[in-house]
Amino acid sequence: MRPITLIRNAKHWKTGARVDVGFRDGVIVADLAEREAGSVIEADGLTLAPGLVDLHVHLREPGQSVKETIATGTRAAAAGGFTAVCCMPNTIPVLDEAVQVEWVRERAAAVGSCRVHPIGAVTMGQQGEQLAPAMALKTAGAVALSDDGHPVVSAAIMRRALEYARHANLPIVCHEEDPTLRGEGQMNEGFTATRLGLRGIPNAAESVMVRRDVELAELTGGRVHLAHLSCFESFEALRDAKRRRLAVTGETCPHYWTLTDEAVGDYDTNARMNPPLRSERDRDATLAAIVDGTVDCLATDHAPHTADEKRRPFEEAPFGIVGLETALALTITTLVRPGHLSLARALELWTDAPRRVFDLPAVRLEPGNPADLVLLDPEAEWTVEPERFHSKGRNTPFAGWKLHGRVLATVCGGRLTHRDPSVGVARVRRELAAAGEGN
Ligand SMILES: [Zn+2]
Repeated sequence: MRPITLIRNAKHWKTGARVDVGFRDGVIVADLAEREAGSVIEADGLTLAPGLVDLHVHLREPGQSVKETIATGTRAAAAGGFTAVCCMPNTIPVLDEAVQVEWVRERAAAVGSCRVHPIGAVTMGQQGEQLAPAMALKTAGAVALSDDGHPVVSAAIMRRALEYARHANLPIVCHEEDPTLRGEGQMNEGFTATRLGLRGIPNAAESVMVRRDVELAELTGGRVHLAHLSCFESFEALRDAKRRRLAVTGETCPHYWTLTDEAVGDYDTNARMNPPLRSERDRDATLAAIVDGTVDCLATDHAPHTADEKRRPFEEAPFGIVGLETALALTITTLVRPGHLSLARALELWTDAPRRVFDLPAVRLEPGNPADLVLLDPEAEWTVEPERFHSKGRNTPFAGWKLHGRVLATVCGGRLTHRDPSVGVARVRRELAAAGEGN
């Protein structure tokens, strides 16, 4: 029998109790006899939680390996405390056939540092016309469907897609954007856009599509998951959907509750994302929707681009920022420390909550559960230095920010997938050689 890896004297993320958690062959075990422990991680009161899950990640492979690969993206995920990510299908080619979904899963199994659950396309080539084969995509391992990057413009196509997805019991992840209201808009409509002479994108470009898809969820009985919500009106619509007990869930991302469109400053392309950073009123609404439970879970919308692409003029630079390596610390720094959420609730929004939204198996710190774990220090302070990211993408508006909350070790399927190079070394050095052998 292989030896146990023992995490000793950790603080349970929910109860606050001191716990020892041991695992063998990727599964948490009940027998914690220390003489059987091949390696010991001395947690010394650090918080131990189930590994984080990100429902919204762009891994860029196949087709755009210059931006990110499955290897680098999942390495970044592990560094951020994630043990599972769901990857968007807007790759080249698009993940619109079973064989593409299978390829991503096989590639992730070979080179990945976390579990990868692909999301299949809603329509072939994400062209918004012909439906992709929902059932075949599900059989191949897709956990949801999305044309993310683009809206499904036709309400009739979305209606059919929701009907097919309902039969396959898959949620559709909706990138909500009315292309006629979006027009040539480059950032949020408001004072900063006017000052910079850029065309604006109104909140309604997002919220009218949110309202449409809430109605279509009711019409079809299908499951709608609203991606990266950014504005007051969208949260109102999600609240309304929940009041009506529809199968509608929603996520938001750290940049929408930490920044406003003023972060664009003088054409900073690292503050260029879609949907755009909004007004102070929208930022407040995002925070309120997280606190009152309207938002089901948090996600990063991790969208790596090359430095060359982000160096282009503002209107020509691609939308999006990286997020995997800053998500937890931003959450702790801006939601937990000011008292908006408890640490347990904040962690839940990155662990149990996303698992529920996509029907992924729950992970508890109990025998028989997969050893998908994160060991973190919610107090430790660090400075965001993009050049040290494991992601190929350095496109973040948070460079130089001092954040609290550091991931010291991540374990996925019993494998040590990340160990903090500075803070964690003294605490976890002793077991590393042994844990490494098991890899
Ligand atoms: Zn999107």
